[in-house]
Amino acid sequence: MLQKKKISNRSRYRFDLLVMLRRAFGAITRIITPGYSYCGKCGITWKFVKGHSTNYTNSRGCFPLCEHCWELLTPEERLPYYKDLWDSWHRWGKPDVEWKTIKEAVLSEAST
Ligand SMILES: [Zn+2]
Repeated sequence: MLQKKKISNRSRYRFDLLVMLRRAFGAITRIITPGYSYCGKCGITWKFVKGHSTNYTNSRGCFPLCEHCWELLTPEERLPYYKDLWDSWHRWGKPDVEWKTIKEAVLSEAST
């Protein structure tokens, strides 16, 4: 049991290190590709990573996370990133889609 926990802590450390490196790379990409939007978690711009598109209607979708970060998170853990994106749409007035619609779309997407 103790051994298992130790291994788990070690992989957790490796995971944290990778997350840190990814965020550092994200910061660099935002400097070298100004004006590009970026993943809400790692901060890497869409010039370097593909966003994971979540369709909330048949023809409309949004992508606050890159495929990599999307894959790492559970649907519940993804919600704050979608909420931040939806909140940011208020800069241009009231969004024409309800938060509830996006929330349901996010929660209905299981990991691939
Ligand atoms: Zn990302």
